[in-house]
Amino acid sequence: MFESITLAHGGGGRETSWIIENFILKHFKDYSSIRGGYGLDLLDDSAVIPIGRDEYMLFTIDSYTVNPIFFPGGDIGSLAIIGSINDVAVMGGEPKAIVSSLVVEEGFPLRELDKILYSMREAIKRENVALIGGDFKVMSKGQIDKLVVTTACIGFTKKEDLLVIKKVREGDKLVVTGPIGLHGATILALQSGVKPEELPFKSDLSPLTKAIKSILRVGGVHKARDLTRGGLSMGLNDFARSNGLTVVVYEDKIPVDREVIEFTEMLGVNVYDLACEGTALISVEEDSVEEVVSVLRENGYPRASIIGEVRRGKPGYVLLKTRTGGFRILEPPSGEIVPRIC
Ligand code: MG
Repeated sequence: MFESITLAHGGGGRETSWIIENFILKHFKDYSSIRGGYGLDLLDDSAVIPIGRDEYMLFTIDSYTVNPIFFPGGDIGSLAIIGSINDVAVMGGEPKAIVSSLVVEEGFPLRELDKILYSMREAIKRENVALIGGDFKVMSKGQIDKLVVTTACIGFTKKEDLLVIKKVREGDKLVVTGPIGLHGATILALQSGVKPEELPFKSDLSPLTKAIKSILRVGGVHKARDLTRGGLSMGLNDFARSNGLTVVVYEDKIPVDREVIEFTEMLGVNVYDLACEGTALISVEEDSVEEVVSVLRENGYPRASIIGEVRRGKPGYVLLKTRTGGFRILEPPSGEIVPRIC
């Protein structure tokens, strides 16, 4: 299928899944989880490691290559901290500590490095986690573009709060916490030459810890996922595929800003494929869904909405009921949608 790596392999869609299945899992599938936990075998937001009776440690890592490194709503530093915190939060965990590695290009201005570290510190302070270790390396000019920030986050949770993807069940309702596509649209616009001050929207980058904590108290929540690379399309397809179920979503129920729709239509990009960095998809029991939505709305997510449900049907399919009343299949994204989105 491919001779060498393309940008699409890093897009978080179909080609990334292909690399994971045919290269990563080929080598590591026999060493992919710890007994009693989950790892590459589940490909969830964080790995799950049992650490005692009904308690788990959650562990996740991401490298951030976003271009441009400063954008309305955040920068590569806040993105790295919040992005990794969110991968622990959506598993039902409380993030505790982060380690981070910075690889910087020779000639990178110290003033900008300081700005990025300040953003990281502010996010760490707000979320009450600690930066407990890291690494710092420099590469010769031209051998790396500005800098790459890698963050790993650990957190902890109890069995009853653990939200793993395989808990998504037939009959569940699907909720999104807010408007989709804002981070992706922001980065795409900047990469297309729009000036930051001309943008009518900004990245939704924000921690999901408070949202998840508040809905765990309601109960009936089976899984949450931060809709990062691959956006809502990938999140829905993952839910459907991991459980052999059909997902149905209603276009008129999905919150999207008008400016984002106009912008994506102009560029011919599917808004459902665009990344979010502070918006989650949640699978929840029908009996709890109204309360989950009202708790989210009271806790800073005024546009939280029920967008669809999980059904028995053709396994692994996502159906989108369009505004005109027809159905179409919502495929996982493919190709190079927005390179270096996060
Ligand atoms: Mg995630």
